[in-house]
Amino acid sequence: MKNLAINEKIVSASTISGGDINAAWFLQGEHGRYFLKLNAAQYVTMFACEYRALLTMSKSLTLACPQALFYGTFADRSYLLLEFIEFCNSDCDAELGVCLADFHSLTHPEYGWQENNFIGTTAQINTRMTNWCDFWLQCRLHPQWQLAAKQGYSTHLKHFETPLFTRVETLLRDHHPKASLLHGDLWSGNKACYLNKAGKRQPVIFDPACYYGDRETDLALSRLFGGFSTSFYEAYERVWPLTEGHQQRCTVYQLYHMLNHLNLFGEGYLASCQNMIARIIDAY
Ligand code: ADP
Repeated sequence: MKNLAINEKIVSASTISGGDINAAWFLQGEHGRYFLKLNAAQYVTMFACEYRALLTMSKSLTLACPQALFYGTFADRSYLLLEFIEFCNSDCDAELGVCLADFHSLTHPEYGWQENNFIGTTAQINTRMTNWCDFWLQCRLHPQWQLAAKQGYSTHLKHFETPLFTRVETLLRDHHPKASLLHGDLWSGNKACYLNKAGKRQPVIFDPACYYGDRETDLALSRLFGGFSTSFYEAYERVWPLTEGHQQRCTVYQLYHMLNHLNLFGEGYLASCQNMIARIIDAY
């Protein structure tokens, strides 16, 4: 892949399904195989963020991810070109647990990221902050909440607002986690297993929305839609055990993603948001 020439000749192309947001293509080139993501031109910033996040992840040397090659616009389209990785069917969740704990051990003095990025196509604010509670409220929950109100869900959510935000503040005020390097969108559709050059099974993660924050947020999303085996969590905790209160914080972190699903995919996620909010309010 290192020898990729800009004018690499593509000999065949076929579509790949599985993504929520973009069209995806497998490209067979004369010298290598590529994975191409396509969207309307306006999404080029989203691809630029993904490109830079993948570069950071590669440099971490803790967890495999596709090599980011190029991004840009062409006519009315934006694109992101990545190394194509042949996934295998085996389960390497235990290996992923170990690698993710190593990945999370890379830290920064502040929460946030070098730029704002995207969670799906929703803008994700990454202002650098030193207080986790403030970061979670101002850069994560409030923006999704306001977006939901703008989209017309205000009448369904408004009455929860004061109790919810008061609870979240109580819960996170004295929580001061390390600012870990996060994948940021770690659901089961964004991890896989492949065979490395030595024929060894290795975990790979892709489609990141990186920032520095509480490592529990990656684990919370991994639990939201299922698809990670018990061996993943056990292996993770053998390397870096979780601290007291993580179960309560888990729902608070999951709510961010559930609200994002409401904002991106519509009313079908409203009841799940309401249930989650009720659980947060009632549980403490
Ligand atoms: P989206 O941004 O639309 O959610 P993804 O990045 O999740 O798209 O990619 C869609 C699907 O393509 C994934 O579920 C995965 O199966 C596959 N995929 C993603 N990246 C690669 C890659 N570099 N090589 C091979 N397959 C990939």
